[in-house]
Amino acid sequence: MSETRIAIAGAGLSGLTLAHYLHRHGLTVSVYERDTGLSAREAGYRVHINSTGTSALHAALEPRLWELFLATCGLPDEDMLLFDEHLTMRPARDKAAMSGIGAPTDIPEHLAVCRSTLRRILYLGLHDLVHFGAQVTGYRTNPDSTITVLLADGSTREADVLIAADGINSAVRAQRLPQVRVADLGARSIAAKIPLTPQNKAKLPAQLYNAFSMAYDSDHTGLTLAPLERTDPRSALVLEQDAEFQLEAQENYALSIFNSTADLMIPDDELFSAGPGELKEYALQRLAGWHPDLLEIVRLWDTATVQALAIRSCIPVPAWEPSTVTVMGDAVHAMSPALGIGANTALRDAHVLGDQLLAAARGRTTLISGIGTYEETMRDYAYEAIRKSAFVGQKVIGHRTV
Ligand SMILES: Cc1cc2nc3c(=O)[nH]c(=O)nc-3n(C[C@H](O)[C@H](O)[C@H](O)COP(=O)(O)OP(=O)(O)OC[C@H]3O[C@@H](n4cnc5c(N)ncnc54)[C@H](O)[C@@H]3O)c2cc1C
Repeated sequence: MSETRIAIAGAGLSGLTLAHYLHRHGLTVSVYERDTGLSAREAGYRVHINSTGTSALHAALEPRLWELFLATCGLPDEDMLLFDEHLTMRPARDKAAMSGIGAPTDIPEHLAVCRSTLRRILYLGLHDLVHFGAQVTGYRTNPDSTITVLLADGSTREADVLIAADGINSAVRAQRLPQVRVADLGARSIAAKIPLTPQNKAKLPAQLYNAFSMAYDSDHTGLTLAPLERTDPRSALVLEQDAEFQLEAQENYALSIFNSTADLMIPDDELFSAGPGELKEYALQRLAGWHPDLLEIVRLWDTATVQALAIRSCIPVPAWEPSTVTVMGDAVHAMSPALGIGANTALRDAHVLGDQLLAAARGRTTLISGIGTYEETMRDYAYEAIRKSAFVGQKVIGHRTV
C-alpha cells in the first residue's frame, strides 16, 4: 500500500499542505499546477488563519517550516471589528449576532498571513514533487482501477488516487461531481493593497488598525481594512537564516476591499474590463459622503494592485459514493469570504484527508473507505462553513444566501 501513487491537481494552500503531510509520512505524491511558477499569478492577499488552519499546518509541516510560518504571520489584536459609514463602532450585538450564528468559536489566537508568502513556505521541501505548467483537464478511470491524469499539453500521468485541489473552477470536480454548482451570490468586490510605510500607517484610522475591520452602510456598501504587519521579533532572524525563502514576499501591507451588491455596482462587463485606476476612482465616488478617514483608506490603495472580484459559492449537494478521485478546498466548498474561513476549511481538508490516506497506506483502512470517511466528515464541516459564511455575508455584504 505504501506504493500508492497520489496525484494532486493544484498547488494552492490545500494541495501543498496535503503534499507535505503525505510526503512527511513517506507516501508517494505528485502535484500538478497549471501556473508556470509560484509567482506567475500572485495576488498575495492577506488571509486570516484560525486554530483550524494552524492545527492543519502544524500537522503537515516539518519544524523548520512551521517556525518559518509563525515568523511570517502578523498577530492581530482582534478578529473582526464592525463600523458604520461614519466610523462609529457598531453595537457589540451586531458582532455577537454573527458569532452566534457562525463565526468560528474555536479560535485561541488570530494569525494573519500573506497567501503568497504561505504558498512559498509550503513549496519549500517539495521542489521535486510539484510540476508547474501542468494544467489538469480531466482524468480516465482504467479497468485496473488506476487513474490516468490528463494534462492540457496532451500528456498523461498515471496515479492510484487523484485529488482535486484546483480551486473554484476545478476541472477535476466538473468531471467527478458535475452536480456541484458554483453560484454567483450577487455581490462584487474591488480589492487592493496598501503598503504599510510609516507615512501610510500614520494616515490610517487607528481604531480600524490591527484587526479585520469592516465599515458598511444600510445598502451593504462596505469597506474593509485588514493590516498584515509582522511584529514577531523572531521574523527577521528566522528569515535571514533561510536562504531558500524569497524575502521580497515579506512587505507589510494592509488588504482593503470595497464591497457592493451587484445591483448597485457598475455592470460586470465594465467592472471586469476597467483599469485599476478607474476601479479606484469608482470606489472613491461610491464612498463620497463617508467619513473622511474611510475615504483616505481608498486613496492609499496602491493602484497597481487594484482588482475586481465576484463573490461566488459552491452549493452543497447530497452525499455521493466515494471513489479514488476526490475533491478538497475551494474545488468543492468555495464560499463567501465574509467569515474568512475558506482557506482554513481547505487546510482542514488536507489534515483529515491526509490522516485517511495515511491510515490506508498503513493498512488500517481501505483507500475507498478512508476517502469515504474524509468526504463524509468534510461535507459536515464544509457545508456548515458555506452556509454560515453565506448567512453572515447576507447580513454584512448584502449578498444572497445559499
Ligand atoms: C480576497 C480574498 C480574501 C480571502 N481571505 C481569506 C481569509 O482571511 N481566511 C480564509 O480562510 N480564507 C480566505 N479566502 C479564501 C481562500 O483564499 C481560499 O478558500 C483558499 O485559497 C482555497 O485554497 P485551495 O487550496 O482550495 O485553492 P487555491 O488556493 O485557489 O489553489 C488552487 C490552485 O490550483 C491551481 N489550478 C487551478 N486550476 C488548475 C488545473 N486545471 N490544473 C492544475 N492546477 C490548477 C491554481 O493555479 C492554484 O494554484 C480569501 C479569498 C479571497 C479572494
